Amino acid sequence: MVSEKEANPYGNAMKQLESAAKLIKLDPDIHEILRQPKRILAVSLPIRMDDGHVRNFQGYRVQFNDARGPFKGGIRYHPNVSLDEVKALATWMTWKCSVVDIPYGGAKGGVICDPKNMSMGEKERLTRRYTAMIADFIGPYRDVPAPDVYTDSQTMSWILDTYSQIQGYQVPAVVTGKPLALGGSEGRNNSTARGCITCAREAAKVLNLPLKGATAAVQGYGNAGSWSAVFLAELGVNVVAASDSQGAIYSKSGLDPQKVQQHKDKTGSVVGFQGSEEIGSNELLELEVDILIPAALENSITERNAPNVKAKIISEAANGPTTPEADAILERNKVLVVPDILANAGGVTVSYLEWVQNLEREYWTEDEVNAKLERKMVRAFNSSYQMSQKHGVSMRSGALAVSIQRVADAVKLLGLFP
Ligand code: NAD
Repeated sequence: MVSEKEANPYGNAMKQLESAAKLIKLDPDIHEILRQPKRILAVSLPIRMDDGHVRNFQGYRVQFNDARGPFKGGIRYHPNVSLDEVKALATWMTWKCSVVDIPYGGAKGGVICDPKNMSMGEKERLTRRYTAMIADFIGPYRDVPAPDVYTDSQTMSWILDTYSQIQGYQVPAVVTGKPLALGGSEGRNNSTARGCITCAREAAKVLNLPLKGATAAVQGYGNAGSWSAVFLAELGVNVVAASDSQGAIYSKSGLDPQKVQQHKDKTGSVVGFQGSEEIGSNELLELEVDILIPAALENSITERNAPNVKAKIISEAANGPTTPEADAILERNKVLVVPDILANAGGVTVSYLEWVQNLEREYWTEDEVNAKLERKMVRAFNSSYQMSQKHGVSMRSGALAVSIQRVADAVKLLGLFP
């Protein structure tokens, strides 16, 4: 069955707004303003391909709301990008920045293309043309892009250069997720996982679950998943299972996350790791563990497997890993789900710290960055948890209520122009 989220992401984002609006008794005028993005840019991007022909790509930048600060959000290169998806992602970025209380609004960009079948030169020309087309609408105090699906620190370097050439001087704060050599931040690389496991740790605290000797399973062993496993192990949690697109592995006595990573680097997969047995990918989600970290794809936890989930805590490193139908089942079964807008907000939080360092021309050590991240994540967890307890709702609803309330307060104070 196709979930609502897959079928109409923006419709789903607006339904979430609807429920939060009821909870916080949102002023109908503010609700009306928040039903539409503030600005939608649609741009056509003619690029000369390596074979000499011209192809015209379609790109978008959706700026949802900037009442709390400059727009902020990633740029996605994917064949399935649609305006509806970019609008939904821009909405969720607005809530994500608000829930961790960083002074940003929310935006998202996307270009419909198949980067896996494009050369570096083609990707560079596409990125530079896209940047030129949106250059009037981005900037350190307007809108600060970042990497998302199939864009990376190299993409950010091209955006930085193109934007800076147009301005006539170097503007590092126009993008985040840059390489260290161009003003990137220490700690950005594993910040999403660090934030996600900080949330899992705080969730264990409120459930009185001792972490030493607790067990965990991690779905997906890329950037977010592999670092999550490392940080769980640092807390004394026994990571008994891990998976990637090739399959899943299990070891009752626990996996050594760093050795699993070395094995994946060497062989391309976690499968075949010494001392582990192979299990089904779906089986991993239903294991008898205390903590489950979905760090792979959207819509992994569905109404089919949710009734069999035994974990007490799910901390969503991935975006949208739980369908709305599964969410209702997990809530009934008293699984504490730390929602994606909070659990994976460590990445954008350190992006914000990167921007602050760029603006101040003053750079911090990794320990300083991690300490600031820790404070923001703990505070965000507590305010979302308290809101959920106050209204007797899930943590997802609690986090949305906290973030939408903050945006609504800012919109109200600003008033209407003219
Ligand atoms: P990544 O590409 O580094 O890793 C993805 C991993 O998922 C890979 O190991 C891949 O093999 C695995 N995978 C793919 N299909 C799978 C399947 N069917 N079963 C199990 N594993 C599968 O990506 P990432 O940066 O780690 O992102 C993972 C998720 O976290 C995404 O939803 C992303 O949007 C979200 N996220 C990441 C960041 C970040 O800073 N990296 C920030 C916010 C959200």
